[in-house]
Amino acid sequence: MARESIFERALVVRSYDFGEADRIVVLLTRGRGLIRGVAKGVRRGKSRFGSRLEPFVEIDVTLYPGRNLASIAKVETINFFASGIIDDFERYACASAVMEVVEKLSTATEEEALYDLTVDALSRLRIDPQPQIVMDTYFLQALELAGWAPSFFACAQCGQAGPHHAYHAAAGGAVCVHCRPPGAVEVDPEVLHLAWLWQHGGDTSAIATPQRVAMAHKLVRSFVQWQLEKKLASLNVLNQATRSGRMASF
Ligand SMILES: [Zn+2]
Repeated sequence: MARESIFERALVVRSYDFGEADRIVVLLTRGRGLIRGVAKGVRRGKSRFGSRLEPFVEIDVTLYPGRNLASIAKVETINFFASGIIDDFERYACASAVMEVVEKLSTATEEEALYDLTVDALSRLRIDPQPQIVMDTYFLQALELAGWAPSFFACAQCGQAGPHHAYHAAAGGAVCVHCRPPGAVEVDPEVLHLAWLWQHGGDTSAIATPQRVAMAHKLVRSFVQWQLEKKLASLNVLNQATRSGRMASF
């Protein structure tokens, strides 16, 4: 009996060669989250769609679901975000980090909103004069979708309204004088304000000095790194338990 195909709008997150002629592709689909697929024979000469299965390309794809890997039957290019990104090191590094984070967040987030946010970030990374701000803004908004957003105004521990002047990634962001744990860093409240504006899409022109921007980048990245390591460890345990059937009753 013929298997039923599925049709999805998707972003190519990652792809790598497999066997002699195949390519494995990690796709972020708009409707079904992350799907791993195999494109058979694409590295053998006259491939119909090999070049479309590269990172930062948005495609319409027809897939046949499989036990471990879906097989990719048909691909049409929708947006080739790669141009404008792959020939500029800073843009390329930022876009690669976006792809790395989206792959990790995809299990925790509603698919369509995360997909649209990611496409928007890639299209801005091609042209925005400050790609690192586009990237950090993306991180903050993607974490918000996952329900893991840091706090930059209220104390992350007791909720007391800011502005505060201490920050601790593992404590959840800004912390007040009573809650600040050992290891919290002393920060200019305007740096927290700046990160808050990135998170909420506000105008930063009045306060965005180079020093504050540099410090805000540090705060955001320390939070993303800490949060993804911690949450992913627990997600992995959860996924393994589900796979082995130990959580079948849930
Ligand atoms: Zn507090």
